[in-house]
Amino acid sequence: MTTNIEAAAIVYDVRPVDPGAHLFDVTCRVGEPDPEGQEFSLPTWIPGSYLIRDYARHIVSIGAECDGEAVGVHKLDKATWRAAPVDGPLLIRATVYGHDISVRGAYLDHDHGFFNGVCLFFRIRGKEHDRCVVHLAPPAAELAADWIVATSMTRLTGNPDDFGAFVAFGYDELIDHPVLMGPLTCVSFELAGAEHQVALVGTHQADMERLRQDVQLVCSAHVDMFGGTLPLNRYVFLVTVVDSGYGGLEHRDSSALICGRDDLPRRGLSSEGRSVQAAGYRKFLGLVSHEYFHLWNVKRIKPAEFVPYPLDREAYTRQLWVFEGITSYYDDLGLLRGGLIGVEDYLELLGRSLTAVYRAAGRRRQTLEESSFDAWIKFYKQDENSPNAIVSYYRKGAMIALALDLELRLQTDGRCTLDDVMRALWENYGVDGARGLPEDGFELLAEEVSGLHLGDFFRQSLRTTVDPPVGILLAQFGVRLNMRAMESETDTGGKAGRREERPRLWLGFRCRTVGGRVLIRHVLADGAAAGAGLSANDELVALNGNRVTPSNWNDLLDRLAANDTAAVTVFRRDELRHFEVDATLPPRDTCYLTIEPDADADVIGRRQAWLGD
Ligand code: ZN
Repeated sequence: MTTNIEAAAIVYDVRPVDPGAHLFDVTCRVGEPDPEGQEFSLPTWIPGSYLIRDYARHIVSIGAECDGEAVGVHKLDKATWRAAPVDGPLLIRATVYGHDISVRGAYLDHDHGFFNGVCLFFRIRGKEHDRCVVHLAPPAAELAADWIVATSMTRLTGNPDDFGAFVAFGYDELIDHPVLMGPLTCVSFELAGAEHQVALVGTHQADMERLRQDVQLVCSAHVDMFGGTLPLNRYVFLVTVVDSGYGGLEHRDSSALICGRDDLPRRGLSSEGRSVQAAGYRKFLGLVSHEYFHLWNVKRIKPAEFVPYPLDREAYTRQLWVFEGITSYYDDLGLLRGGLIGVEDYLELLGRSLTAVYRAAGRRRQTLEESSFDAWIKFYKQDENSPNAIVSYYRKGAMIALALDLELRLQTDGRCTLDDVMRALWENYGVDGARGLPEDGFELLAEEVSGLHLGDFFRQSLRTTVDPPVGILLAQFGVRLNMRAMESETDTGGKAGRREERPRLWLGFRCRTVGGRVLIRHVLADGAAAGAGLSANDELVALNGNRVTPSNWNDLLDRLAANDTAAVTVFRRDELRHFEVDATLPPRDTCYLTIEPDADADVIGRRQAWLGD
């Protein structure tokens, strides 16, 4: 079918042709190809996930034709092709393998299909601003009866949820609308004049009505913060439900999420009141909150380096802390503001987030700006030494967002908050979306909006490895920052400890269990294990002559007394080795936050203005 809108458009046809072999067939029709020979390519990375992924590697076969005659296709580099010159419309055909059950790729089997445009849609060089029409075809007949479609791409033909034709205005928009297809479970709600849809695929017993209400509350909190309006007509959450998993990727009018089925609220187990008690569900709603906040912060307010995205190479910016750190600060805050958790729960989540920073010795080696700039080679390529070498621009970025919010509130007597800076950021850089945020743009705007000199704050927070004075700031809001020792490998902080009286000793490494074996996961810099010569991936065999198993490791540690020298026996590769390691008191790197009971009225007032309690 050809419609008027397809004249002067690039037309893509996508067919989930062989679910068993995980293959999509894609064609791309270019009406007026470059007379010198049309070049076309696939992105090497997907915006939002800062790693070169080389999507072209999943192309199984490729060819081209013109008026039914085959046209030669020559490969120019790992991601770019050139078709021989033709006198007429060029049709590119490709078969693409999709078996990546993540939010960043493409997936197809007999249960469902999902794809990001970067996997399937060729970028036609020189025509990046042309209108794009996408025909989505259903799978073979035996599946087609149950399968429907969810995407935020603008629909041209077909009823809502049907396969059919869609349109995008330019390549940048085309690849920003992932598509989920399968026997989906959907709920919708309206918010600020925009339709919102939550579409789930995968086996689950989710209480969809509860989900609808709670997701709406989360979204409302952010809409309210940004002035009560939305820059879109429709927003879609595309959720793949798996046994256990977690992940999200933001897009301008949608987000792709992965969650464990136990993280969703179960039908028939309606909890009392609104507050979300289940940790897994809180984590899921935190993810919803995070990705939705991105519709403003990173999808419309963008680093200048992302305008446009250089899809054939890394896009370097020192500002990812603004886009991921501030978003991380607001994700849990959104749950509090939406009434989904109480202040105590919020402080627990904040305590955990701070703990993750305090435990990373790498924060003494890498600044927040460096973490952002090197995301491509460090944060996205983590290894056993990462805790010693890097800091997360998510976690430390959220810590700096917290410190900045509290600093602004304190120094302006509550007249200016981080909310005000974010709204100004939106008005200056987001509304029209065409102007990227220069590398110093956030800092200048925060000073302008608040009227404060924040040069020292930003210099120390972003360009040195000094910790911000979070404990001192929180105290001004009647919240106490308490530090304690980590108690076990599963202790993520946020709560008071159970063994404050007698902390478990430690040897300076963290473990993991693999197939019944206990392996050293990280040897922490400057700890006893590092001094003794233990190494990541050493398999723990015995401690003081007693066999190590996944279940008795903590008991063995409990037998140690401070300053004992422990005999640690390991297999390194296939060789037995013995080490002598001093058992020491563990570092007090785990934190939890408590409300100060004796705060004065000013302090309580500040806390209420911040947390609304
Ligand atoms: Zn994010």
